[in-house]
Formats: sequence, C-alpha cells, structure tokens
Amino acid sequence: MSGPHYPMGEMPTGQQIGWQATSADSSGQDSSQRQVKGQLVPTAPPLDSIGDLPGYEGTNFDGGFLPPPPPYEPPSGGGDQGPVSYNQEALTDNEARACLNQLVSENCCWGKGPANDMKIVNIAPSSAFKYTLDTFTEARETKWQYEPSDGAALAATGLQPPLPWDVPVAPQKMFKDGSQKVEVPNTQVVKPCHDCRGHGDIRCGDCDGRGHETCSSCSGTGTRIGDEQCTWCDGRGTKPCTWCHTTGMKTCSTCDGRRYLRCYVELTVTWKKHDDTFVLEKTALPDKLVKSASGQVAFSDEQPRVAPVAGFLDPQIGQASQDLVHKHATKWPNERILMQRHSVEIVPVNAVEYVLDGKEGVFHIYGNENKVHFPDYPSQCCGCCVLM
Ligand SMILES: [Zn+2]
Ligand SMILES: [Zn+2]
Ligand SMILES: [Zn+2]
Repeated sequence: MSGPHYPMGEMPTGQQIGWQATSADSSGQDSSQRQVKGQLVPTAPPLDSIGDLPGYEGTNFDGGFLPPPPPYEPPSGGGDQGPVSYNQEALTDNEARACLNQLVSENCCWGKGPANDMKIVNIAPSSAFKYTLDTFTEARETKWQYEPSDGAALAATGLQPPLPWDVPVAPQKMFKDGSQKVEVPNTQVVKPCHDCRGHGDIRCGDCDGRGHETCSSCSGTGTRIGDEQCTWCDGRGTKPCTWCHTTGMKTCSTCDGRRYLRCYVELTVTWKKHDDTFVLEKTALPDKLVKSASGQVAFSDEQPRVAPVAGFLDPQIGQASQDLVHKHATKWPNERILMQRHSVEIVPVNAVEYVLDGKEGVFHIYGNENKVHFPDYPSQCCGCCVLM
C-alpha cells in the first residue's frame, strides 16, 4: 500500500509542516554522529518543527508529560455513621486449644506436649478495629511518537485535538491497576524524514559514502613487507564496505527507508489503586497481624469522594479516617481520583492466658480465620533440626 509521494516542501497543506534544515552538508545529507559502527540508530524529529498543539505544549519525544487533572470541588459535610453495636464473644477453652493444635500441626518441628499439657486459665475477648481507605486514581501522560510513513497525506480536518483529560478513555474495572495507550485524534502530522531529508537512505558512516574501506592489513598501501602484494585486498589497498555492500548508502533507520514520518501524540492512561489501613488494637498483638486478618464489616461505603467516618465506635477511628481522606485528597497532584471506598472491620482478638509447668503466659487468637500468634511457644524444636 503506497500513498501519493510529494516532493520536498510540497506537502498538501493542513497538518504538514516542512523541516527546517539545521546542519545539512552539501549533499543534503546529514552524516551526524548517530551512526554507531555498522548500525544506524533512529532519532526523534526535532520538536520545534512540529509546532504547538493547544493543550500539549509540554509534550515531547523523550519522556512522558503529566498534565495535571482538572480541579475537584468536594461536597460539603461529613458523614455521621452513628454508633455501631457489636459484641465479641470469647472462644471456649476447647476452641482455643483446637486452634493451637492446628498451629502446632502446621509446624513440623513444634512439639505437641505443651499444647496438650498447658492449663488455660482465662480467655479475654476484645475487638481490634481496622479502617481501610482505597483510592483509585488515573494519570494521563502525553508523549510525541513517530513512525515511518509512505507519505500518504492526512485528510485535513481543521479540528483541534481534544485536551488530554477530555480524550474518552475509561478503566475496565474500578480499583484494578492497569494502563492503556491511545493516539490522540487530530494531532497527526506527516513530514519528510528529518534524518535522511526525505531520501530514504543515508550516507554510510563506516566508509564515509565511498563504498570501500581502507585495508587494515596493508594500511591502504596494497603491499606488505618485501614489496609483496597484500593478499587481503589483492593489492588494491581497499576492501569493500560490508556495512553498505559498497553502495556508500544505508537505508535510513528513522523512516525505515520510507522517506516520511507520521508524528502523533500518544496518551498513556494509567490506573492505580492506593490503599491505607489504620489499626486500633489494644492488646500485645502486633498491628500488622490485625491488618492481614479479616473481621466483621461494620461499615463500608464507595463514592467518587468519600467523607471521613464520624461518630463511629472509637473517636480514634474518626480521626484516622479524617487524616487518611485528607492525605489521599492531596498526595497525588498529577492523578485524578475516580473512586474511593472505605470500610471499618471489627477484628476479634482473644488473649488466651495459660499456665504450663508452673509458669504463666499468654498467646493470641485473632481474626475471623482464628489465626494464632504464639511467638514464644515453648517447644518449637523437637530435635529434628538444628537451629543456628
Ligand atoms: Zn559503507
Ligand atoms: Zn591490503
Ligand atoms: Zn529517513
């Protein structure tokens, strides 16, 4: 498929602009330093020759540009969820011991003795609270891209491109990370290749366009010690350039020999879920364990912007919610918040007090999953392994 080709500088009007010559030599070829031994490295067109597109002024070929999202006006007033009633029932002795036996059986080195022998003297139930805030955001990055083109003229639409945040792109699913690239409409420009100046090939940098290289064996003299003829070059002093197959020219890698480039603005939309968790826990159980456990969902809400929870359970939850909602509203200035959700979970915690061999101790059973935290279980090695 090949479209019409136009002589240099005679592209149809509309979206096409000619390159400005910068450092062409007399042949109109730019034998710049972009040739690495034997290889051509494609280069991006000069940005100043593309012209500004409204809304894309900071966009270039090198790195992505992040246009800040439109401002957001939050609705007034917070949500008052009111008191929530809950009661935490204690595990029975048998349930606690069953949980412990399960843990011991999962650790092959742990002895069963202490679990069987210990006397459970008290089980104190309590509740830990887990407040979680998820914020789902979108970032939009613009970048000029180019690709080889056969020079087919673009239909001049006369339309301006939509602003980066007006290009219709939507996530497939809320709260799922992902990204998508789209070509922004009405940003396309077709121009002769700046590297080969529309010729499709470029002077070979390895032989300087001569098609032959100096023979490295005789340094170009054609003879060796004792006036013997050089066998490498048969006395010619030169060898055919293998990089250009003696033509002195190479196919331009920037336009792939097709002479034109089609430039356009590429929009990369990236979706990300940011999450934060606050744990309110009053026993010796580490907070990070509560974080990983599940509990009874006492409250949950999903909104384009959630209001901090208030009047809820413990004032510390309200404070944490307020802090995190505020933090999420300001932390990612280059991202637009699409949706937020937050929840409060009540995670059951049972502190199990026991006596073993006359010594008192305590371990914890927590979460709907009845996980056991017993870091100082008395018999963690039955002798089958050696702890270093
Ligand atoms: Zn060559
Ligand atoms: Zn030679
Ligand atoms: Zn080219």
